[in-house]
Amino acid sequence: VSANDDLKALIRTIPDFPKPGIMFRDITTLLLDAEGFAACIERMAAAVNGPIDLVAGIEARGFLFAAALAAPLNAGVLLIRKDGKLPGATIAEDYALEYGTDRIAMHADACAPGARVLLVDDLIATGGTARAAVRLLRKAGAIVSQVQFVVDLPELGGADALREDGLEVTSLVA
Ligand code: IMP
Repeated sequence: VSANDDLKALIRTIPDFPKPGIMFRDITTLLLDAEGFAACIERMAAAVNGPIDLVAGIEARGFLFAAALAAPLNAGVLLIRKDGKLPGATIAEDYALEYGTDRIAMHADACAPGARVLLVDDLIATGGTARAAVRLLRKAGAIVSQVQFVVDLPELGGADALREDGLEVTSLVA
């Protein structure tokens, strides 16, 4: 895999999932490709700006990328999950969906105040999920300055919103 176009070719679009009218970007085909997945992790690691203590991944596909990045970055993995899934004491953050709200959570003691945390997820669309994750991590005392995604859907404005919040945003495929 030598160019971003090659990574893009490993991601397929499934129409009308999970609802009619939605074009779902499916990264499971990228995960299946040994060279493609390795290139993806290599490029994400190379784009990290400064030392990191923890990589935070958002359930569920974000976990895969956070876990693979942890060793090359010499960092631990922090799980951001749907509310109600973590066994210990948690802190949570709500965010707006098209209809209603959703809630993500992390263990309250998952990071020491001042820990440098890189947030990663498979994809950014409206940015609602990632922005809530940044608020949550900051509530826990983390220093979050960079957010990485495999795929950005720039027309939905999520990455721009994160940049307006002062975050560095990088993605491999747009
Ligand atoms: P946002 O909050 O609108 O930015 O949506 C991003 C979240 O929804 C991420 O956690 C993604 O995993 C998930 N998501 C939204 N659209 C897609 C898609 O087309 N493919 C894969 N995941 C998606």
